[in-house]
Amino acid sequence: MKKEAISDIKELLQTPKKMVIVPHKNPDGDAIGSTLGLYHYLKMHNQDAVVIAPNDYPEFLKWMPGEDTVLKYDSNTANCDMLIENADVIFTLDFNALNRTGDMEQALKASKGLKIMIDHHQQPDDYATYMYSDVRMSSTCEMVYNFIDMLGDKALINPDIATCLYTGIMTDTGSFRFASTTSETHRVTAHLIESGAEHSEIHNAVMDANSFERMQLLGCALTNLKVIPESKTAYISLTQDELNHYNYRKGDTEGFVNYALSLQNIIFAAIFIEDKQNNIIKISLRSKGDFSVNEFARSHFEGGGHTNAAGGKSDLNLQETVEKFISILPSYNEALKNE
Ligand code: 5GP
Ligand code: MN
Repeated sequence: MKKEAISDIKELLQTPKKMVIVPHKNPDGDAIGSTLGLYHYLKMHNQDAVVIAPNDYPEFLKWMPGEDTVLKYDSNTANCDMLIENADVIFTLDFNALNRTGDMEQALKASKGLKIMIDHHQQPDDYATYMYSDVRMSSTCEMVYNFIDMLGDKALINPDIATCLYTGIMTDTGSFRFASTTSETHRVTAHLIESGAEHSEIHNAVMDANSFERMQLLGCALTNLKVIPESKTAYISLTQDELNHYNYRKGDTEGFVNYALSLQNIIFAAIFIEDKQNNIIKISLRSKGDFSVNEFARSHFEGGGHTNAAGGKSDLNLQETVEKFISILPSYNEALKNE
């Protein structure tokens, strides 16, 4: 972020303002961790801040400090519209384009509130007055830490801020194992632990909160796992009936795609999940090395994300979507073989 931007934002924080903080739709650990981490920080500056999520998020994030204050746009639209319209400042975190907020997009576009983006996704849109965008970052939580640091406020990081930021760094780095994890990420994390993040408790709260039914659904997903060796690709599909059978709850399929990627000699993995309510197939893509699933998702499935983790959707049915995927793969065989 430019020096001028930092001094402008410092100035902004001098007096109380109405501030809204927004994560992307279907928020994950990094989205909720970064928005709540920033929320606790803005509170230290006596700001009238609120986090508005486009929709609900998984139970395994519902223990985070301040989580009970998060408003959900889809179930509280009139109130949220008013807050967005009257906001002096709108922080948009962990996404690169306003359409990633789903039905909130119009309200955000219409609001005269000054917009500040903090995000690590590729190809950011140009809607914010102040933009802190860096695709090399492990997580938006690491960037919120840097943002606080740039404002000269590292000393203000309390256990609530530290806990929220630690959570998002941990989830977005796959517990510090993805290539995006740097020595700097570990330095930031070390300081968060020193500032009161209880790393083992956080890990347990997020990772060891499985329901029996989720484990059974994982068993079903692994049974459905298919491998295409010539493309070094593996994929999983789940029908709505299968989800219903195991009493699917939001977040239950989080991480399933990584089991496909964990196979020997596989560098590209996908999961296709039928969503009858929205009449789409939700797709998650993962890769190893330089093969860009961001490009793949953009080119074929109306999505995007990062080089090694991206998502998208399809309006075809589940079988047609999988067939489309399989038919596209051969054109990537060269790229996949070279990885
Ligand atoms: P996941 O597969 O865990 O839902 O998402 C992986 C990454 O891709 C995340 O960074 C997420 O923000 C991004 N992503 C997921 N779905 C979409 C989508 O439909 N559009 C775009 N642009 N990005 C997505
Ligand atoms: Mn993120």
